[in-house]
Amino acid sequence: MPISRNILALLVSIIGINLIFPQAVDDLDLLMSRLHLSHPGLSEVSRVASTSDIAATYLLNYYKERKSVKHPVDRSQRKSFDREVLSAKDQEIANDALNHIFIGQPAYPPHFCGDDIDWNTRPVPDMEWVWQLNRMSFWDAMGRVYKNTGDERYAEEWCRQLVDWTQKNPNDDEHKYAWRSIEAGIRGHHWTGLFQRFIDSPSFTAEILVAFLNSCFDHAEYLMTQYRSGSNWGLMEAEGMAFIAMTFPEFKNAEKWRKEAFRRLNSEIGIQVYPDGHQRELAMGYHIGCIGWFYRTYELAKLNNLESAFPDSYLEMIQKMCEVPMKIGLPDGTNAQFGDAWSGTPGQYNERFLSWSQMFDRDDFLYLATDGTEGNMPLSTAFALKESGLYSMRSGWDDDAICLVLKCGPDGGGHCQPDNGTFELYAGGRNLMPDAGSYIYSGDPETRAWFRQTKVHQTLTLNGVNTEYAPRLLQWTPGDSLDVLVVENMSYENLIHRRAVFFIDKRYFVIVDEAHGNAVGDIGLHFQLAPGAAVYDHKNLSVSSNFEEGWNVMIKTKNQHGLILEQEEGQVSFIYTKKEPRPAFRYRINKDAEKSIRFVTVVVPFNAESPNLEINVVGDPEPGALQLQLEIIEEGSKKNIGYYLAD
Ligand code: CA
Repeated sequence: MPISRNILALLVSIIGINLIFPQAVDDLDLLMSRLHLSHPGLSEVSRVASTSDIAATYLLNYYKERKSVKHPVDRSQRKSFDREVLSAKDQEIANDALNHIFIGQPAYPPHFCGDDIDWNTRPVPDMEWVWQLNRMSFWDAMGRVYKNTGDERYAEEWCRQLVDWTQKNPNDDEHKYAWRSIEAGIRGHHWTGLFQRFIDSPSFTAEILVAFLNSCFDHAEYLMTQYRSGSNWGLMEAEGMAFIAMTFPEFKNAEKWRKEAFRRLNSEIGIQVYPDGHQRELAMGYHIGCIGWFYRTYELAKLNNLESAFPDSYLEMIQKMCEVPMKIGLPDGTNAQFGDAWSGTPGQYNERFLSWSQMFDRDDFLYLATDGTEGNMPLSTAFALKESGLYSMRSGWDDDAICLVLKCGPDGGGHCQPDNGTFELYAGGRNLMPDAGSYIYSGDPETRAWFRQTKVHQTLTLNGVNTEYAPRLLQWTPGDSLDVLVVENMSYENLIHRRAVFFIDKRYFVIVDEAHGNAVGDIGLHFQLAPGAAVYDHKNLSVSSNFEEGWNVMIKTKNQHGLILEQEEGQVSFIYTKKEPRPAFRYRINKDAEKSIRFVTVVVPFNAESPNLEINVVGDPEPGALQLQLEIIEEGSKKNIGYYLAD
């Protein structure tokens, strides 16, 4: 029998300590009305439910002693059990948080939000700052530092901030900055982990528990009304609800929340993920995020013997999602920054590949996780994600490999850009032709719009206007010495852009672009290089990067009447809110209604010297024809390559 509880209750009643002030009595009554008092273990709470202060104390004891619910953050081990390792950064963030210096959108510096915290502080015009402030990511750092050091200051301050936040941020029209559905979902997920980290602290009093649980209830009820199907938002909304429901099954509505969250996740994995494994928004960061949002709820369900709600196909699809960064990632582990994706840092997915290799028993994931020291090299060097319209061709699996990743896919919504046909080229450990990226989400709409323009991508435009998303895969035939990819995009109502990419001898690329249809105007074929110098040879229509050390790239298009080479404005952003100039140019030619246009371009990554290549089109088929043959002459040796499309 829990004698300690009875003694405590007795003390409370004898000494007459009123731990709880009047508002808190209402809050406790509200909480009692939200709990299944018949839940196993709550019988004593139920017995004293009408005696508020004692009931709250009993409830706290119940949670401190509860063993029935399992969570990935395991309370039973005091130190270093977290999958996240405590870092110097955690320590810094947690210490700042003690002083109310908080992180909002993390690209901006942390900001002091007042002795009396203003949760609507806006140090920058970018709304992401205040939205993300209300995710309270710094609480996780406080939780990790507390669990690893036992320093009570972190728990005390967290408890204070939690109550402060719940009191100052009711879910109403005046507090919308705190209640976007994704922040609510993120909090729902994170707070269950914070509960695990702080519940054993003496600072976590009955009053804290009441505020915390009431807010969890409010979060789950709100998330029941929020469902962005087809978007990563829908997954965060479901995850928050699932974590609250499974961590606190004592709530009357917990089963309803859990079933709805499971239903959404089971449904969204079909709606949001293409059969090729890529999440439909086609931006890598969100894709990786979605793997976690789909998997974590399954993992928590499994810990609590509820995993039968997810069919085998659910996990199979997650495994396929995990293949995506292997298939279209760049050789050093960064990725093409198509749409709202960021290239990231080398080896950024190594830890994930390691855990995925264990989850799915995959040698190829292990190979990537360990930079090739363990496991087995992936079986192919070319991959097509056909529904997503993402394709990769690489020379090998070493960090220095040549790799081109091309996008020609459907509209993925707000995180996607009208960039069909564009590509990134990486070689010799260097991203020679990175995508411009996206720079910012909110607070600078003009610059955001600049970065999403079609004409700042490596593709074809008519009069510089943004293109439509209307992709078609015509041919994909990878091979030992030649990979061939032919895609088309109905870029404009009256103009089709066909792009054929030939990766020859795993050394260089020939790209044939055709613009056919009755459109009239300037056709621009755009290319952009990594930041650095470029050498323009207008006479030969070639442009090269000019790095003194290591690899460079040379782009050269075949001359034709009326074609000119022009420099363009070039920018690239690798980090949120940071951008830098870079070389950009286009080949421009005028098109009349009857004429179709064909560009034949070589894109050659090279270390010492660029090979001397001559490319001729065999015969003169009309652009858009089913057949194309090229003759390639290099140092006197000739070869023919081409494609022949089935009608
Ligand atoms: Ca882009």
